[in-house]
Amino acid sequence: MEVLSKENIDIEKIRAQFPILQKSINGKPLVYFDSGATSQKPIQVIDAINAYYKNQNSNIHRGVHTLSSEITVAYENARTTIQKYINAKRAHEIIFTSGTTDSINLVAHSFGKKYITAGDEIIISAMEHHSNILPWQLLCEEKNAVLKIIPVSESGELLLDEYKKLLNAKTKLVAATHVSNTLGTINPVKKIIEMAHQFNAAVLIDGAQAIPHTKVDVQNIDADFYCFSGHKAYGPTGVGILYGKEKWLNEMPPYKVGGGTIKTVSFSKTVYADLPLKFEAGTPHIAGGIGLAAAINYINAIGIENINSHEHEILTYATERLLSINGLKIIGNAKNKAGVISFVVNDLHPLDIGTILDKYGIAVRTGHHCTQPLMEHYCVPGTVRVSLAVYNTKEEIDSLIEALNKAIKMLQ
Ligand code: PMP
Repeated sequence: MEVLSKENIDIEKIRAQFPILQKSINGKPLVYFDSGATSQKPIQVIDAINAYYKNQNSNIHRGVHTLSSEITVAYENARTTIQKYINAKRAHEIIFTSGTTDSINLVAHSFGKKYITAGDEIIISAMEHHSNILPWQLLCEEKNAVLKIIPVSESGELLLDEYKKLLNAKTKLVAATHVSNTLGTINPVKKIIEMAHQFNAAVLIDGAQAIPHTKVDVQNIDADFYCFSGHKAYGPTGVGILYGKEKWLNEMPPYKVGGGTIKTVSFSKTVYADLPLKFEAGTPHIAGGIGLAAAINYINAIGIENINSHEHEILTYATERLLSINGLKIIGNAKNKAGVISFVVNDLHPLDIGTILDKYGIAVRTGHHCTQPLMEHYCVPGTVRVSLAVYNTKEEIDSLIEALNKAIKMLQ
């Protein structure tokens, strides 16, 4: 993949498209380093959502009137936009959900119901978000199946030799994150999938932290399922995507059922709709779908390679500057990293550091980042996490370092 230089994007122009970045927090310009939790939204996305409620509001799929027909077309176009973005083969392999968590639960319930029986094995990794641990833990408890964990190295990389040893004929599913929300590690998902497929195990990739930062091609990596949320990719909250191979989605039973999921209903027998409607019960988050497509169009207009290259430059700069601080330790030093830096400073509590940084207008996340097993592994109560997006600058990193030095002085 060609990576274009940062000269191809105008960061000041991009920043001006995010209204919230004009805001002051505690009398200081907002420096937003919490995009891993949720990204800020450009005006193009806000306008698309406003336009829907102002001019297009109507329910999809069930009306013959003009507004309903128009919004149905727009919603299905949104599906196609997402299909193209991740290079899915078919539009009906794109299921709208409420987010990554919802997408993973859908697969755990539906795939789990059909394919998992006592003694089967499911593999996840030690760096998973709780949303990609708990659905599998619950499923294994219900079905008397076994949950196995791929360990992580000191630098924050998955130990593929250990993974190889976990795979066997009983493995039915592997669930792994594409990019770790705590360590920033970009996992070799193509390899992970290829290894699982040798044992005919399906693979679900949690792409929540990958979609806004890196090119994703679900056919190239051969993912069986790929999940992400709109709100971490410049889109609205409450909407997300489950990509699933047609073969699986056709075979899997419906998960949530109700209006929209059927062909015919009678008290003696119900016939469910074809994909994707089989998995989209009730009125969906229509504005969310429209907003997510606007967000993907926004990313496409800048170019995901340009975003990636800009973030990488900020990541390198931030890493160097942070490491110059006495007693600061970065948790997660994989060779292949996205724009996430977790760190601790001596035995200072991350929460105290985050609270002081906020006084300087700097938004970071502190705590376990919904990865408690990982915190246990690194023997830390939590970390301070700086997560980057296209709108961040080196000047903002300088502000962070200055405020961080003050915070450390105050706390020590
Ligand atoms: N997986 C990862 C890797 C995440 O970072 C997150 C959000 N922090 C989730 C899953 C859950 O996403 P959501 O809350 O949007 O469902």
